[in-house]
Amino acid sequence: MTNAPGFNTLAVHAGAQPDPTTGARATPIYQTTSFVFDDADHAASLFGLQSFGNIYTRITNPTQAVLEERVAALEGGMAALAVASGHAAQLIAFHTLMSPGDNFIAARRLYGGSINQFGQAFKSFDWQVRWADTAAPESFEAEIDGRTKAIFIESLANPGGTFVDIEAIAEIAHRNGLPLIVDNTMATPYLVRPIEHGADIVVHSLTKFMGGHGNSMGGILVDGGTFDWSASGKYPALSDPRPDYNGMVLHTTFGNIAFAIAARVLGLRDLGPAISPFNAFMLLTGIETLPLRMQRHCDNALVVARYLAGHDKVAWVNYAGLESDPNHALQQRYAPRGAGAVFTFGLKGGYAAGKAFVEGVSMLSHLANIGDTRSLVIHPASTTHSQLNDEQLVSAGAGPEVVRLSIGIEDAADIVADLEQSLAKV
Ligand SMILES: *Cc1c(COP(=O)(O)O)cnc(C)c1O
Repeated sequence: MTNAPGFNTLAVHAGAQPDPTTGARATPIYQTTSFVFDDADHAASLFGLQSFGNIYTRITNPTQAVLEERVAALEGGMAALAVASGHAAQLIAFHTLMSPGDNFIAARRLYGGSINQFGQAFKSFDWQVRWADTAAPESFEAEIDGRTKAIFIESLANPGGTFVDIEAIAEIAHRNGLPLIVDNTMATPYLVRPIEHGADIVVHSLTKFMGGHGNSMGGILVDGGTFDWSASGKYPALSDPRPDYNGMVLHTTFGNIAFAIAARVLGLRDLGPAISPFNAFMLLTGIETLPLRMQRHCDNALVVARYLAGHDKVAWVNYAGLESDPNHALQQRYAPRGAGAVFTFGLKGGYAAGKAFVEGVSMLSHLANIGDTRSLVIHPASTTHSQLNDEQLVSAGAGPEVVRLSIGIEDAADIVADLEQSLAKV
């Protein structure tokens, strides 16, 4: 081939080849904990990071390796590290960059679980999160000080489906000598490739649209290979001699894959959230159809958003794909193929109407997930956000009247019909 393979081709082939031993065409599930060494010198060189190879499935596994190569290719990154969940990916990303007493700046609009992880769990590592507003990129700069180590945003933010000006925030990060970490779970690289817009590290919950079938947990970190980790003492895991690896300095030895290596041999090795080979296989299989599924998700979501916007019981619809939406220009710039499949709308009848609506659906599933082939619905005020008061509900984008949809790949007419019959009962 003369040209680099296209996105659809990479989704099917990147990282994979027929199994050299058996000829198996699908990537085998290497369901083993450990791997036999050729001889004692081979074992020593693997342990000393002198050569690449498999030792133990907590650190590397051939099924996991294909998943890593595939997602790195789809994101346009240099290397990747697959782990047990999206939250594990975030934990390992920050563990690689942060020391006790350090801080990072994160967008206020994030997946609720990430708000908890950053605001609560990270406190016990003495890592501080400072919140900023993606609609005002300068609010990130205002929070930076001498102990700031990174900026974290979602490319397409939960729960409202808001596109973010990645380039403006990347510019602020780089001007201040910081890496930009982008959670690309909701957009997937089919819609947005954050590294092309200045991200240095991309993280994913593979549990959602990437795997796409609502059957397997997984997460991944992608190293863009773009960031200079050499500043002495700022990122010790990358720039200081490692006593556990004979004084090796990871950024000089591994160059533009140093972050991915550090995340694996210091983060995953010691914290331990490895992905199972079976889940890596399931996620890999899902990713083969990512471009087809994402386009259908987006096309269906636009049909549903237009339908809801014209319904007399609906107060508002928050979908960037609608031309009238204030976020539409950013969507056109960053994700011209579509606006994603997760969005919110408000019912004129408030809390009671929201609750009645989710009880009235029949094909749609009432549950707390996104990015399944099936269409999903939730009323945050009576479920995920039920511990908040009305004022807190509104600032979280989960007011009493708000319903969140994750539109699946069924026939759009059937999704609309189910919404229609449920709205009739509200
Ligand atoms: C689900 C989700 C996560 C967390 O991923 P898990 O696989 O559930 O650990 C992180 N970010 C976003 C945007 C998510 O939707």
